[in-house]
Amino acid sequence: MQDNLLSGNKPMPFGTTLKRTFRFLKPQLPRFIVAFVLILFNVAFDVAMPMIVGAVTDNLKSDSIALKVIIGFAIGYITLGGVNQIVLYILSMLLQKAGQSIVENIRMETFAHIQSLSHGQLDKMPVGSLVTRVASYTASLSDLFTNVIVSVLRNILMIVGVYGMMLYINWQLSLVMLGFIAAVAFISFGFGKVIGALFRKERQYISELNTYLNENLSGMKLIHIFNRQQYKELEFILKNENLRKARYKVVLAFGIYRPLITLISVLATAVTFWLGVKFGLTSAMIVAFYLYLSRFFNPVQNLADQLNNLQKALTASEKIYRLLDIQPEVQDTDDAEDIQEFKGDIEFKNVWFAYEGENWILKNVSFKVGAGQTCAFVGATGAGKSTILSLIVRNYEIQKGQILIDGKDITKIKIQSLRKAIGQMLQDVFLFSGSVKSNLTLDNPAFTDEEVEAACRYVSADSFINKLPEGINSELSERGENLSQGQRQLLSFARTVLHKPQILILDEATANIDTETEALINRSLEKMRNIGTMLVCAHRLSTIKRADNIIVMQHGEIVESGTHDELIAGGGYYSKLYNLQIERQ
Ligand code: ATP
Ligand code: MG
Repeated sequence: MQDNLLSGNKPMPFGTTLKRTFRFLKPQLPRFIVAFVLILFNVAFDVAMPMIVGAVTDNLKSDSIALKVIIGFAIGYITLGGVNQIVLYILSMLLQKAGQSIVENIRMETFAHIQSLSHGQLDKMPVGSLVTRVASYTASLSDLFTNVIVSVLRNILMIVGVYGMMLYINWQLSLVMLGFIAAVAFISFGFGKVIGALFRKERQYISELNTYLNENLSGMKLIHIFNRQQYKELEFILKNENLRKARYKVVLAFGIYRPLITLISVLATAVTFWLGVKFGLTSAMIVAFYLYLSRFFNPVQNLADQLNNLQKALTASEKIYRLLDIQPEVQDTDDAEDIQEFKGDIEFKNVWFAYEGENWILKNVSFKVGAGQTCAFVGATGAGKSTILSLIVRNYEIQKGQILIDGKDITKIKIQSLRKAIGQMLQDVFLFSGSVKSNLTLDNPAFTDEEVEAACRYVSADSFINKLPEGINSELSERGENLSQGQRQLLSFARTVLHKPQILILDEATANIDTETEALINRSLEKMRNIGTMLVCAHRLSTIKRADNIIVMQHGEIVESGTHDELIAGGGYYSKLYNLQIERQ
């Protein structure tokens, strides 16, 4: 098992995480400053309200002005309340805008960064973790900017403001209340920790269930073939059970927490009224104090909650920064040349390559292919044929030796110009969901329909594409599952031809194609040979026989090379391989 590049790192210092988060926040700073001013207003409103209610209650004692006071109060309350609601609306819009654009930037940067990584690095990152990083962790971060930061600020301001007012009304009573407040804070923080762990467990089970479903729905046909339905159902029941239990624990925790807090607040209220009278407070001030008290518990609870969310968001951001910190392994050097036209000479000079450590997959491989020639690589499975092809386009970096194109070391050529000049047709043809056309152009709008159709004709893919309901605009199902292997191969030919490369690389998928498709493929292969230099990992005799040169690989080494006739005459490994294949046909 290869190590996972994304795991097993030391935790990042808290300050570093904050500083890096601030870098993303900076462009939105004006919005956050306006938000802060609005929060000040909102908090002032919330803090002032009980005092106003208290003052009104005091005035109610003399009947003559009562009505006037109430009307005045009602108008003031409605106006201020209305303004406060507008402020809240603007605040939430501001924060959403700021937060979403920050997260959009982070998501784009993360995606672009993943694209810049080499195949070797991507091999060591499970796609699942990458998806989580780009999708879920950025969502957690979005919560940080749109909600957490502001809530923490607001709650702190509220706590300070409200407690200040309580002290102002009666400091002795306020000190007594401190005990209740401490109890609520303590229970809320503790609950936050417990519920956080329970949520994590729940999420883990949800993610396990999703992975299980994903894999088993994709592999459903295999499950049918081997009659494993019953066993799979049992497995699924177990996974569901775990999730149900985890969910139950979450509900239980909330079931205990909420009544407990209510109980404390009821007790605190009772004590307020009792001591309020004892300390000689007016009934109006007791009401005001009670109103403040009821406004106090909420921010304390909320703050505890938000501090947990803050921790969660910072953990999420740390995971994203870790990904961003991975330096792309294969990068252009400063002196890399931008080459527009290649002749197509290819040379491997004593190339050694290992995917990992010293586990050499290619050992001292040297060969030359002249411009315009076709060279076929033959050998048992795992011999290193596909590896050779992926090195030419610098998907991986070699450890020793040199790879030259037109006499120039490929590490001195800009990767973009290298990949533009080389058309790769891989062993597993990858098709995106979308139309035939979008799969051929890879959504590059520069290609016209005529060009796409011409490319399809060139590789003889037009006959089957024309039979599709909407020609090149027909939608392919996921990964092109509604096409045969041969048809998928023809599509990958068309894709390559359309992009007009000067060097072609073909990793033949299989030797087993029906005769009709084989004829089509051979015809297009013959034509494609005219485009430029061609390197083929060949599985089919027809391809191999036509090559200008055949390189026979065994365990990462070249054991023979020459034309078909030369190799047959030599009577070595190739001739045995050939005779075996002839027998099978
Ligand atoms: P086939 O005929 O089956 O396509 P091949 O000759 O193309 O075989 P390669 O794909 O080049 O063989 O693989 C050569 C060796 O490298 C194999 O032992 C394989 O296990 C190993 N290998 C291939 N790809 C990777 C990878 N991404 N990471 C680690 N090892 C790999
Ligand atoms: Mg291969």
